[in-house]
Amino acid sequence: MANDASGQITSTRLKAPDIGKQLREISPHSVQVVESLRANGFEAYIVGGCLRDLLLGRTPKDFDVATDAEPQAVVKLFKRSRIVGRRFQIVHVRSGRDVVEVTTFRAHHDTRDTEDHESEQSDTGMLLRDNVYGDLSDDAVRRDFTVNALYFCPETDEIIDYVNALSDIKEGRLRVIGDADTRYQEDPVRMLRAARFAGKLDFEMEPETSAAIEKNGHLLRQVAPARMFDEVLKLFLGGAAANTLAVLQQFDLFQYLFPATAEALEDDQPYAQEIIQATMENTDARIEAGKPVTPAFMYAAVLWPAVIELREACLDQGMHIVEAMREATHAATMDQLQTTSIPKRFSIPMREIWDLQSRLHLKEGKRAAKLRSNPRFRAAYDFILLREQSGEDLEGLGEWWTQYQIDNPVDEEANRSEQRRRPPRRRRKRPPRQAQGQ
Ligand code: ATP
Ligand code: MG
Repeated sequence: MANDASGQITSTRLKAPDIGKQLREISPHSVQVVESLRANGFEAYIVGGCLRDLLLGRTPKDFDVATDAEPQAVVKLFKRSRIVGRRFQIVHVRSGRDVVEVTTFRAHHDTRDTEDHESEQSDTGMLLRDNVYGDLSDDAVRRDFTVNALYFCPETDEIIDYVNALSDIKEGRLRVIGDADTRYQEDPVRMLRAARFAGKLDFEMEPETSAAIEKNGHLLRQVAPARMFDEVLKLFLGGAAANTLAVLQQFDLFQYLFPATAEALEDDQPYAQEIIQATMENTDARIEAGKPVTPAFMYAAVLWPAVIELREACLDQGMHIVEAMREATHAATMDQLQTTSIPKRFSIPMREIWDLQSRLHLKEGKRAAKLRSNPRFRAAYDFILLREQSGEDLEGLGEWWTQYQIDNPVDEEANRSEQRRRPPRRRRKRPPRQAQGQ
């Protein structure tokens, strides 16, 4: 970042009418939010990852707005909006199904009198509350990586760059803003974000950005399991899981996400690496093909090496195979919950997939048809194929089930009309999700 003679941080401005045009086309809502804030006397910009992605010719996932209006003022302005998060308050502004995240300019905690603001830090420097407000330049330098700290003003069609983000984007470089150790200590999740952006964008980490990860990785143990779960989904269900896994392993971060699987990897379990890698490749391919992906399957697969190790230990103690498997899946789930939460709607199907692994061997007589009609059959069958693809010898079980499905085609149309005859299920209203990141 550049400072002028008076020590003020300076910015570069770049006319980018094409970015403005794309934003108005892809996310008119985010532009409207900025315009409304400005019409009411506030400062406001489109910010962050969406600009980075547009400059790289990628389609942004979501659109963020930064403003000097405090959260209470923002909710007053937009009818369909609410404040989410506590550690880091943001406002969700809705329009149809679209949500724009509006954040108030933040400052570093030592640059402002924090008395009537919200700042709280742990012994290791982790920010427990990060609601200290500042101005635009403060906001730019408290963002995580340079490539995420660009602002766009739809009024002037200008990009504003305080941190040489434009050159880092051009050169494919991921650089932490400020002192890397401090920034990771404030929020260890930034290390996972570094791996995610490096993996997804195929960017090279600048040396300080990567060196500090090796030093501070262990701080991830302090992060709340719910936030870790959210990050796991972003890391592995974002379309670049295989690349991201490689970066995570390169920087020894995988162990903080799936400790028991990492141990199995260290024990040189033959197919542990194969299965996690194959899972990521298959997930990326499904996303690319527009097919659905579920955390339940991904978790089932990534934890499988841990399940197997636990199962072997139970068998060594003389347990019966069925009991050993039940014990192993239970223990693997409980262990993992210490690190990342797994909401029930995913942990239940995950365990059903595991449970079906032994049952798919018992396919004689009428059992095959019954197993086939199990709602989790498809996932369990895919899981068998994945295990075989990763080098487990299941004595041709996948092949057998593939052939069985060819020989016994399901009447899809009959199934669909059966579905249509059923009265629609009443949908339960889910409690609103809390924002985990910022
Ligand atoms: P994507 O949406 O593609 O995952 P993004 O960069 O938009 O990437 P978000 O999680 O949507 O990431 O966050 C929006 C912006 O908020 C980021 O671009 C970054 O400027 C800032 N930000 C998010 N998380 C952090 C963090 N932990 N520390 C500092 N700044 C952050
Ligand atoms: Mg974003």
